[in-house]
Amino acid sequence: MFYEDRELNEECGVFGIWGHSHAAKLTYYGLHSLQHRGQEGAGIAVTDGKKVRDHKGLGLVNDVFAPKDLDELVGYGAIGHVRYSTSGGNSLANVQPLVFRSQTDTLSLAHNGNLTNAEEIKRDLESKGSIFQSTSDTEVLAHLIKRGISHTFKDNLKAALNVVSGAFAFVLLTENELIAALDPNGLRPLSLGRLGDAWVVASETCAFDLIGATFIRNVKPGEVIVINDEGLHSDMFTTEVEPAICSMEYIYFSRPDSDIEGINVHAARKNLGIQLAKEAPVEADVVTGVPDSSISAAIGYAEATGIPYELGMIKNRYVGRTFIQPSQELREQGVKMKLSPVRGIVEGKRVVMIDDSIVRGTTSRRIVQMLRDAGAKEVHVRISSPPIKHPCFYGIDTSSSSELIASKYSVDEICEEIGADSLVFLSTSGMQEAIGRNPAMKNCGQCMACFTGEYPTHISPETALPHEKDLLVSKGG
Ligand code: AMP
Ligand code: SF4
Repeated sequence: MFYEDRELNEECGVFGIWGHSHAAKLTYYGLHSLQHRGQEGAGIAVTDGKKVRDHKGLGLVNDVFAPKDLDELVGYGAIGHVRYSTSGGNSLANVQPLVFRSQTDTLSLAHNGNLTNAEEIKRDLESKGSIFQSTSDTEVLAHLIKRGISHTFKDNLKAALNVVSGAFAFVLLTENELIAALDPNGLRPLSLGRLGDAWVVASETCAFDLIGATFIRNVKPGEVIVINDEGLHSDMFTTEVEPAICSMEYIYFSRPDSDIEGINVHAARKNLGIQLAKEAPVEADVVTGVPDSSISAAIGYAEATGIPYELGMIKNRYVGRTFIQPSQELREQGVKMKLSPVRGIVEGKRVVMIDDSIVRGTTSRRIVQMLRDAGAKEVHVRISSPPIKHPCFYGIDTSSSSELIASKYSVDEICEEIGADSLVFLSTSGMQEAIGRNPAMKNCGQCMACFTGEYPTHISPETALPHEKDLLVSKGG
């Protein structure tokens, strides 16, 4: 399998609502608040009890939906999706929700995460006659359900959820049901809320705040929730569960105003900064954070050290995330366009520059240079996560291990590479403690795989690239 193929379903956001006459419009607002999870495509499917209609397109939520599109999406149940993909996967056929119409019914589905055994399942299904419409890994779930041998849709769904492996937060919509399901490790966040009599599910709680819904609880790992006109019914599709939510959701991805399993993301990031200050203090004049995701950690670091927090650089709001650029050259250019130093703040100063993570090293290298060009006397880099040494197979674009700077170089070598005066990463135990999840759980209920190589699910050697295989130290991996 090509690496690009494996990365078709990255960092997405899902939303669902049941029992509201403005289901599509509320989904549209919900998707707006999840826009940071994917900017390359968006879609909504809606049901009025008889028919499922959908509208989707490439681009931002605002670009995809005109008021007339939303007016046409009539119904009281809806699901929506925002999509992030890397090169190779950005075609309209892969934009979700995927909709499968048969003579008797319609199934639409949207997925956040990445299925690690999709290729094997696909090959098997194709050999049995299935024809796939997209190159998305998500489609295998629909085929597995359709091929199910039980009499009920729900039993076929539960069976299918036991065949797929990896990370999945699914929302599904039929003419008369909304369904939400989460993988046995709960790798991606998924929350349940209420808006009056309507039920709402969303990748992040910030979507509830925007539409005025109340958070009820998190969807549990291994749980499948079916919502229809009779109410909500919860069931487990497996009892073999082991919570391992993605650490990067706290560190980088989720919005600071979201709560993940009862922990506010801004508060977690601030604690990461406080912990970093304990582990790696330094004599300096100002602390600055890479906007936006590192500002909370920088505030924490400043508070704990007593060094003032300053706006040492600002972000140009109108440039997309640099990470999304498919080539290294474009990424380097992207960083330049994205951030500008505030000369008056950094000139002649010893600066502590906080970033939430180093992946390829592009951002840190550029920023250190930028701060020096603006007159900084010293630049000390502090990272509020441990070094990312292993690739992610669960839907986060942390690249192939050959591109991960920490898989090739030691911390001292990275420091030299990015041109900093000093560099320290947060420890893994410090990271877990600062986020503050349940210490009684394995790894505090977090996935730590990109830092430690200990994957919470089996990763087949086929999923890993040849040069990544020796980096797999997971269960049976
Ligand atoms: P790099 O420049 O490749 O070292 O990437 C690190 C920068 O990208 C940091 O500033 C992070 O905030 C951000 N980042 C980390 N992981 C990701 C990711 N998976 N997708 C997009 N951006 C990321
Ligand atoms: Fe998140 Fe890293 Fe685990 Fe991927 S490997 S799910 S990025 S913690």
